[in-house]
This record gives sequence, structure tokens and C-alpha cells, in this order.
Amino acid sequence: MPFTPKFVLTTIFALFVLISSGNGQTRTQDDFQLVKVADGVYAAIAKPGGLASGNAGFVIGNDSVLVFDTFFTPAAIEDLISEIQTLTKLPIKYAVNSHYHLDHTGGNQVLVARGVEIIAHDNVMKWQTTKNKRFLPAPEDLQKRRADAAKLLSETPEDQKDKRAQLERTMRRLDAMMAIKLTNPTRTFSSGTMRLKLGKREVILATLPGHTGGDVFAFVPDANVVFMGDLGWSKTLPNLVDATVNDWIPTLDTILKQHPASKFVPGHGNVATAADIRDFRDYLDDLRARVKQGIADGLAVDQAKEQLKLPEKYKSFAFQNFATPNVEDMYKELKGTKQLQ
Ligand SMILES: [Zn+2]
Repeated sequence: MPFTPKFVLTTIFALFVLISSGNGQTRTQDDFQLVKVADGVYAAIAKPGGLASGNAGFVIGNDSVLVFDTFFTPAAIEDLISEIQTLTKLPIKYAVNSHYHLDHTGGNQVLVARGVEIIAHDNVMKWQTTKNKRFLPAPEDLQKRRADAAKLLSETPEDQKDKRAQLERTMRRLDAMMAIKLTNPTRTFSSGTMRLKLGKREVILATLPGHTGGDVFAFVPDANVVFMGDLGWSKTLPNLVDATVNDWIPTLDTILKQHPASKFVPGHGNVATAADIRDFRDYLDDLRARVKQGIADGLAVDQAKEQLKLPEKYKSFAFQNFATPNVEDMYKELKGTKQLQ
């Protein structure tokens, strides 16, 4: 693009927006918003339709940095690393995968290439390059979808700006997905806790079941912040595809009991309080109670999906598309017919 006066002005304005929002609380990004949760503790909250998809975050210690989750794509984690480097010159020493789902591990290859140790639950090592294939279409399929979107864009008139922008976002996302190489963590554990030192600052990893059977969360004691991964969703309906709700509810009760006044970085949704995490726990409990009653009333699974409506208080939650599939997953879990690996 030539350096016309308009281009220069647009660029200056864009820089101004970036700088003026970088006041220590939040920064502007296409794919995620950086939120300062405590001194040296940041959440990266995913924006809808972008290249991050799931939340991530990082902790800056005295001698090194820990990254919690690696987003959905290499491009998004590269952006997060750039953000970290504007805040500190300290090296990234550790990364954590909260679980195997691709929207939390898709950037692993970038960290492995930088020699960063990636820590996860043992089951992530089993599932990362196998079960994740259902979230990552084959290269030829991605190519075809990109070609289809490009063709549609070329046929869309210039004045249909919203449609063109949507197609451009789709192509950008497909390009970023084509760069993903499913990459394992480098160190795993399956019980107890793991204490990581970032100089004086400590981060404690622990594992409890619920969302996938291979979930890790992190506590930063000196800041009283918990990174939940997908064990915690804030004002958002969860994905239950790999879940055992019967494990998940006691897991949340344990975490809330241990951390009654912490700040929580959820896997999806904004930075949360204990009350927000309790609301999420109550959604799971309500879902289980409704489906249990439906089974007792003799409903078949399709009748349960049709008849068991979401209580009003959860209708403002994001990801409403999960409302009905969650009834089916809960039904199968209670019936003992859910297929879990
Ligand atoms: Zn997940």
C-alpha cells in the first residue's frame, strides 16, 4: 500500500488507539484482550471469531515467565508472546496446557520451537495428536474451505461490507488453522501438585477431573489468582463433549472452598469472581437435576432435548448453542452410555 496521507493518518490513529488503551489495564488486540489481573499476572481473553478462541494468560516472576494455555493457533500465541515482551525482558520458562482441546493447545509448536517446557496432565500426551483431530479438519478440507470463501469473496460486491468482512475473517482463520501442527506437551503429571518457581514467585499446578479427565489448573499464591482452564467458564455455557459432570461439580466445590476470595481466569468468558464460578457450578448442578428428573419421568433422550429448557437465569450466558447438546451429554452420562475415551 502506498504511503498516502490517508494511509498515514489511519496508521497514526490505529497506533493511538493501541497506545491509549495500553494503560496497564487492557490492551487492544484483534484476537484477544489483555487484562491485568494482579501485579505481573495477566489474562488474555479470547474475542469471538478470532484466532485465539480460548482464553490464555501469563505470570511474570522475578527471573522468568509462565504462559498458561497456548490458544487455538500459532499466530495468536505469537501475538501473546509479543505482548509479554513489551512488558518484560525475562524469558518464558514454562507453559501449561490446561487440557488437550485445540483452543488451548493449538500454539504449542511455537513454544516448543523456543525451547519452552510445556506441562500438562498425562492424558494430554495421549489425546493431543489423536482426539484433537476432530477439532482440526484435514489440510485438503481446510484448503477447499479457504478456496470456497475466496471465491465467494470475489463474487461479493464492494458495498456488501459486512459480508466481505465476515468472509475475510473466515479466510484469516482458515489460514491460521492450516499452520497448526498438533504438538505434545513435554512434561506431564497425573496426581498431586507441581510447584514451579519463577524466581521468588511460585505457581502451583494441580489436577482435578471434570471437563476432560485430563485437566490442570494453576494457582498463584502471592497474587491470589487461579487460572482455571476449562474447569471454569464465566457467564458461558460449557462444552460437555468429554465431560463427567458427576466429577466436575465436586471439583468446583473443592476449588471454591480452597479459594473463596481469589480472582479466576476462566477458559472462556471474562475474568471472574468466586460468585461467577459458583454460578457456573450451579448451571451444571441444575442441568444434572433437570435431566435426572427427565429420566425419572420416562423421557427418551430426544424428548429430553426437546422438553428440558434452559432456566431463565442462564439465558444471558454466551455459547447458547451448547444448551441442547448439553442435555444429551448429561442424559448419556446419567444413563452410563456416554462414550468417553
Ligand atoms: Zn475445553
